[in-house]
Amino acid sequence: MAVDFDKLFEGAIPEGKNPTRLFRQVYNGAITAVSYAEILLSQAIRRYGPEHPVGYPDTAYYLPVIRCYSGEEVKKLGDLPPILNRMRAQVKSELTFENARLAGESTWYAAEIIEALRYLEYDPNEPLAPEPWTGFIGDPVVRRFGIKMVDWTIPGEAIIIGRAKDPKKLARMVQELMGMGFMIFLCDEVVEQLLEENVKLGIDYIAYPLGNFTQVVHAANYALRAGMMFGGITPGLRDEQRDYQRRRIRAFVLYLGEHDMVKTAAAFGAIFTGFPVITDQPLAEDEQIPDWFFTVEDYDKMIQIALEVRGIKLTKVRLELPINFGPAFEGESIRKDAMYVEMGGGRTTAFELVRTVGEGEIEDGKVEVIGPEIDAFKAGDRLPFATIVDIYGRKMQEDYEGVLERRIHDFINYGEGLWHTAQRDIVWLRISKEAVAKGAKFRHLGEILVAKMKEEFPAIVDRVQVTIYTTQEDVDRLIPMAREKYRQRDERLRGLTDEAVDTFYSCVLCQSFAPNHACIVTPERLGLCGAVSWLDAKASHEINPAGPNQPVPKEGVMDEWKGMWKSVNEYVYNQTNHNLEEVNIYSMLDKPMTSCGCFECIMAILPECNGIMITTREHGGMTPCGMTFSTLAGMVGGGTQTPGFMGVGRRYLVSRKFIRADGGLGRIVWMPKELKEQLREELNARGKEEGFGDNFADMIADETVGTTVDEILPFLEEKGHPALKMEPLM
Ligand code: SF4
Ligand code: ZN
Repeated sequence: MAVDFDKLFEGAIPEGKNPTRLFRQVYNGAITAVSYAEILLSQAIRRYGPEHPVGYPDTAYYLPVIRCYSGEEVKKLGDLPPILNRMRAQVKSELTFENARLAGESTWYAAEIIEALRYLEYDPNEPLAPEPWTGFIGDPVVRRFGIKMVDWTIPGEAIIIGRAKDPKKLARMVQELMGMGFMIFLCDEVVEQLLEENVKLGIDYIAYPLGNFTQVVHAANYALRAGMMFGGITPGLRDEQRDYQRRRIRAFVLYLGEHDMVKTAAAFGAIFTGFPVITDQPLAEDEQIPDWFFTVEDYDKMIQIALEVRGIKLTKVRLELPINFGPAFEGESIRKDAMYVEMGGGRTTAFELVRTVGEGEIEDGKVEVIGPEIDAFKAGDRLPFATIVDIYGRKMQEDYEGVLERRIHDFINYGEGLWHTAQRDIVWLRISKEAVAKGAKFRHLGEILVAKMKEEFPAIVDRVQVTIYTTQEDVDRLIPMAREKYRQRDERLRGLTDEAVDTFYSCVLCQSFAPNHACIVTPERLGLCGAVSWLDAKASHEINPAGPNQPVPKEGVMDEWKGMWKSVNEYVYNQTNHNLEEVNIYSMLDKPMTSCGCFECIMAILPECNGIMITTREHGGMTPCGMTFSTLAGMVGGGTQTPGFMGVGRRYLVSRKFIRADGGLGRIVWMPKELKEQLREELNARGKEEGFGDNFADMIADETVGTTVDEILPFLEEKGHPALKMEPLM
């Protein structure tokens, strides 16, 4: 059914209260913006000619605002004049709400064109926007936070522009938003104000300081790209695109400080898209539109009201912590000189363990630190550390311990000034000086774990208790117990083969943006995003039986070697709108699994090498198939079968079921060095099993060997790579 998005605005303006003053500003602002764009555009065309290419770096969406709303693929300067003329004609002098919104849309187009013209001189080695400014944000970043936007771990987006009257209160607002997990776009002087208040900004904090003035359009083109990527809606379907923005992206604008007609016109571009605008300026009644453009002078109330007007309800447990907490802090690292204490990482003995206990062995919510608290240490100290998380739940199973334990990493990293890496008895933790100065204690780590385990796994976790040990004696005494648990767990996992189970699981989480895609997750093949293993899917099904992971029975074997079952085909057929009839789980050449868009790696055949190559999302460079990751991603994604190409999770490469039907591990001839180093030990262990000697990893070429077939072939020959002796790939 077609969407009539503008219905949303019907009746927004109370009878007889047309805000003409406001609409006049919007009109004037839009005319100014469009005229300015025209001047710059004609200068650029004079200088470079109409055939000169125009676009932003790192995106497959051309000029994204234009691509999204009109579907046009702007490639060269000469494409722009007719578009801009159309946008000027759309700015009408009759002062109505509808015309103001259209003028807002025109202003977004104008801003996007002005910004794109700035990129004509773009040199990848010299960023147009110097640190900390981000300028245009490329597709890889948009994708990186995709799942979190889709599942609302990131509950919404706040766009903050202008200058705050009280920088301290602004900092508090931004930190509150970060704590709730919001994605934040900042433009104009608020950025300097926040930096002065020591608020951390940047991609790692999902708080993007875009730049000044027209750079605010990078918030718009980010949101609209997220819609195109994750909404699966055809570019150019303007109403459907806006409807998706309104329902899923959930943005609002805080427009601070003195108003300026161009900014006000741009704010109406936001309203056009369904984002309300809240300002801190006292406005007369005829300068406001209830729920869409209105005043909240008190900074302490602004966020609350913004959430209400957007209908964003947060279900999260509120943690009482002296530090900020939320996914915004996940990527933060703590350098040696910024750290207060350090635990594990090969420097001291440390481990962490989630274990299932009986009902009588646990006191719910209890956090205990046995041994000295953080105050007993001085800056730069290292100490032994053990974290034991006891879980009781009627539906808890030992099988889930590993799933829960792996989440400790995320949960601890959500704390500002807490840093966690690796797991088990190789875990490595740091706590920053800043966090300690704010009052962070070891016990807060326990409190975080109690709250998050309950919040994220409510169906399997009924009670949680955390005990932290900080003396050598205790850690030494307990570590053998933990190691025995890891060993048992690994043994169970090793026995967990595709043959050993009678049920696989599906994952359809990505259908929100790739409606014809379903992952089949098996013990030996994890989801292509790398985030969903068979155990995760099983636990998730337990937690939420109607959720995205459903059991798929393994019945009616059709081809055991290639991995085809009648029941799996039926499931896939029904779940993909009848788009996909048959799938071979262990092949990339013959009826392979489809790919959505969030694959960790993409594999492609290299017929000249009789093998395949693999590249990763992290690897930006060229590959021997002549395409970069992003070009490949455009070919492979979207939920259609593309034999010869496939998106996979990193860990699938070392599975015994890795494209078994096409020759398996021995086909891998090229991968980025980073991936090779990550998997080195397992690649070698698996290579040994397959009879490729002790050092299979070093037989695989990488970008240091070459990025063309001609460059890598001599290397493969010299190493005696097994692919060269295998039967022809095609
Ligand atoms: Fe998406 Fe597949 Fe990962 Fe599920 S397992 S989140 S469907 S990529
Ligand atoms: Zn996906």
